[in-house]
Amino acid sequence: MVILGAGFAGLACATALAGAGARVTVLEASGTPGGRGGSFREPRTGEILDLGPHLLVGANRDARALLERLGTLERLEFQRSLNIEYRWRGDRRSRLSCPPLPAPFHLAAGLLRFQALPLSERAAAVRIGRAVRRIEKTPGRFTASPSPQNGQCPTPEETVTQWLKRLRQGEHARHLLWEPLATAALNDHPGRASAFLFARVLAEVFSGGPRDSALGWPRGALGDLLKPADRWLEQRGGSLLYSSPAAGLVWKGSHVQEVRLRGGGSVRSDQVVSALPARALLPLLADAPASVGQLRDDCRLFAPRTLPILSVYFWSERRLLGTPFCALPEEEFPWIFERRALAEGSRGSWILALTLGGAQAWMNRPEAAILEASRRQMEGLFPGSERDLWHARVVRQPEATFEPAPDLCLRRPGPGTPADNLWLAGDWTNTGLPSTLEGAARSGHIAARALESRA
Ligand SMILES: Cc1cc2nc3c(=O)[nH]c(=O)nc-3n(C[C@H](O)[C@H](O)[C@H](O)COP(=O)(O)OP(=O)(O)OC[C@H]3O[C@@H](n4cnc5c(N)ncnc54)[C@H](O)[C@@H]3O)c2cc1C
Repeated sequence: MVILGAGFAGLACATALAGAGARVTVLEASGTPGGRGGSFREPRTGEILDLGPHLLVGANRDARALLERLGTLERLEFQRSLNIEYRWRGDRRSRLSCPPLPAPFHLAAGLLRFQALPLSERAAAVRIGRAVRRIEKTPGRFTASPSPQNGQCPTPEETVTQWLKRLRQGEHARHLLWEPLATAALNDHPGRASAFLFARVLAEVFSGGPRDSALGWPRGALGDLLKPADRWLEQRGGSLLYSSPAAGLVWKGSHVQEVRLRGGGSVRSDQVVSALPARALLPLLADAPASVGQLRDDCRLFAPRTLPILSVYFWSERRLLGTPFCALPEEEFPWIFERRALAEGSRGSWILALTLGGAQAWMNRPEAAILEASRRQMEGLFPGSERDLWHARVVRQPEATFEPAPDLCLRRPGPGTPADNLWLAGDWTNTGLPSTLEGAARSGHIAARALESRA
C-alpha cells in the first residue's frame, strides 16, 4: 500500500495499517515528518521552532493513539483539567479553571467561578454545556441534520455567532469566552464559522471526564513527535521515503496502477491513500478518468478555501509570562506561549510566541509592520521588556487550516473515492472535527478502517 504524505493523517493511517500487518510505503515530499504539525530550524539561533504553537486536548484520542504507537506520547505535557489564564494590560488576570469533577459538573463549576464574566452571564453560559451534551449523542461524523429535534443544537447552516445569540449568551460570554475559543478551535471568525463544528469540539472536550478537557502541548519540538515513524515502519517491513514527492497517478480505467515520482520513477501499488491537502492532491489528478470527476471537483472546491495563521516568535533574556500559554482577549494577537530555548545559540533565553488565527488581513503585510505591531503588544503587556527581547522571527502559514464555513463542512468527502483503489485522509476530509492534529489523525484511522473493511 502507498500512502501519500507524512503528516498526522498519513502517519496515523500508515501505522494503523502496518500495525495490522500491511506492507506500507509512505511518500513524503519534504525531508521531515509532520507537515503543518511540524517544525523547522531557525537559521540565526539554530532553535527548532514549530510552524506555529500547537495545543491539544486530553480528548484527542486518535492523535494520542498515534503517538502512543510511536512511543512519543510522554513528550506531551497535559494539564489535569482545563485551566486557561486570561490576561489584560496592567496585569489584570482571570482564570477559567474546571475542577476535577465528573462531567458536566466540571464545566459548570468552571464557568460559575469564571470571574471575568458578570454573574448573570455565567449561569447562561452553562446552557452551552447542556446543549453540547446532547450533541454527543449525535453521529460522530458531520451530517446534514445533526439532531433536528433538539432545539439547542446548532443547525448545519448556523454560524457560531448566530448559535450563541440563539442560546442567549451575553455579550461578555461571547466576546471573552466562546468566540475566542471558537476562533482558536476553528481558525475563523465566529461570524463565519460553522456552529456545528464548534459544538462538536465542545462535545468532545466537555462530555468526558475532566482530563478530556485538559490542554496539552509538546515539551520539545512538535515535529519530533513523529520522528520515530520511519524506523517504526521499517521494523514492520514498510518504509517512509522522504524527499519523494508524488507527481501524478497512472490510471487503468478507474484503478490507480502506479504513483509517479517527481524525480522520475514510480511506485506500483494495489491500494493508494492520499493524506494530502486538497491543493496538493488536485494536480495529481490531472490524468484521472472522467469517472473520478467528483473527487477532482471536491479538490477544486476545497483547495482555495484555506485560512492562515500568523505567529511571531521572540527570544527574551528574561522569563516574562511565567506560564506555558495564556489568552489575551483584548489584544491583536490573542494567544501567547512561552517555553525555554533549547539551542546552543540561544542558551538561557526564553521563547515567546504571539499567535493570530484567521489572519487573512495580516498575510501580505511587510515583516517590519508585523514586527512593529507585535513588539508594541509585548511592551504593553510586559512594560520594559523591549530591552530583553533580542531576536524575533515571523512565521506565516497561509494555508494552515481549511475554512470551517457551514457550506464547506457539508461537502467534506469521506474516505472512499470513485476510484477503485484510491482512498482519502487529511484534516479536510469528513471527520466532524476542524483542521487539527486530532482531525488529521482521526481521518487517517477512518481511512485505514475503510480500506481494511473493503469488499
Ligand atoms: C500555524 C498552525 C497552528 C496550528 N495550531 C493547531 C493547534 O493548536 N492544534 C491543532 O490540533 N491543530 C493545529 N493546527 C492544524 C494542524 O497542524 C493540521 O490540521 C494538521 O497538521 C494537518 O495534518 P494533515 O496530515 O491532514 O496534513 P499536512 O500536515 O498538511 O500533511 C500533508 C503532508 O503531505 C506532504 N505532501 C504535500 N504534497 C505532497 C506530494 N505531492 N507528495 C508527497 N507528499 C506531499 C506535505 O509535505 C505534508 O507533510 C495548526 C496548523 C498550523 C499551520
